Amino acid sequence: MRIIHSDDIVMSVKELCIQANRILPEDLKTCLRHACQQEVSPLGKEVLGDIVRNYETAEKLSVPVCQDTGMAVVFVQLGQEVSIQGQDLVSAINEGVRQGYTQGLLRCSVVRDPLRRENTNDNTPAVIHMTMTPGDKLSLTVAPKGAGSENMSSIKMMTPACTERDIIDYVVQAVETAGSNPCPPVVVGVGIGGNFEGCALLAKKALCRELSGSQDSFYREMEKKILEEINRTGIGPQGFGGKVTALAVNIEAGPTHIASLPVAVNMGCHVTRHATRVI
Ligand code: SF4
Repeated sequence: MRIIHSDDIVMSVKELCIQANRILPEDLKTCLRHACQQEVSPLGKEVLGDIVRNYETAEKLSVPVCQDTGMAVVFVQLGQEVSIQGQDLVSAINEGVRQGYTQGLLRCSVVRDPLRRENTNDNTPAVIHMTMTPGDKLSLTVAPKGAGSENMSSIKMMTPACTERDIIDYVVQAVETAGSNPCPPVVVGVGIGGNFEGCALLAKKALCRELSGSQDSFYREMEKKILEEINRTGIGPQGFGGKVTALAVNIEAGPTHIASLPVAVNMGCHVTRHATRVI
């Protein structure tokens, strides 16, 4: 067994929270710069220029790229040959989030109860998704998720009688309904398959994937089709009109029941953030 001390996990999660909120992933930055060149609407182009300047300034001044620093979603891949000493893993992750958000001066956006709404003042608890993997490594991905885009997400329990066209229409409609709320240009995470909760998780994972397209050619083609249709809606950057409404559509598919075809859309904004470290 390889021993990892919980102090290393706390430190890593803390640093990942700060990093993810200040520095956008390289591929997202490239997409935004490219979008700025491609946009034909003068106002849309201006907005994209502001978005690029905003992430450059955040990086330079070491401040968050957006005031909504999100709920801390943490994906954990725990090698089965790892033994954790010190605190338990969940406590260590939450301590890392606590330190990251308070010391990194990130806005604390979590309320303890959905109706009584008392702020926990340290952005805990994190939303933790854990999988066991072979080997002796621990992989941590922190994906802060703002509410403007999260609130525009949806799931539909389709049936196997539904066609690819039905799925495309559902995803495009979700983006049209969202309009300017998720701060476009968006990254659209799509989950297809699984069951009710598994499908939503597939869509969330899709937002943490690189923006280079699915490795499965069937789904890569579908991503392209959806992206083209979304960018024909004319919503444009921040909803001011234009041809760049979405930067990417990422589909993650998974096994499902013979009588099911769940489809979930997890909307990501122009600051679709995530940072990963392997210990
Ligand atoms: S949707 Fe994204 S860019 Fe807009 S306020 Fe929320 S986190 Fe910030």
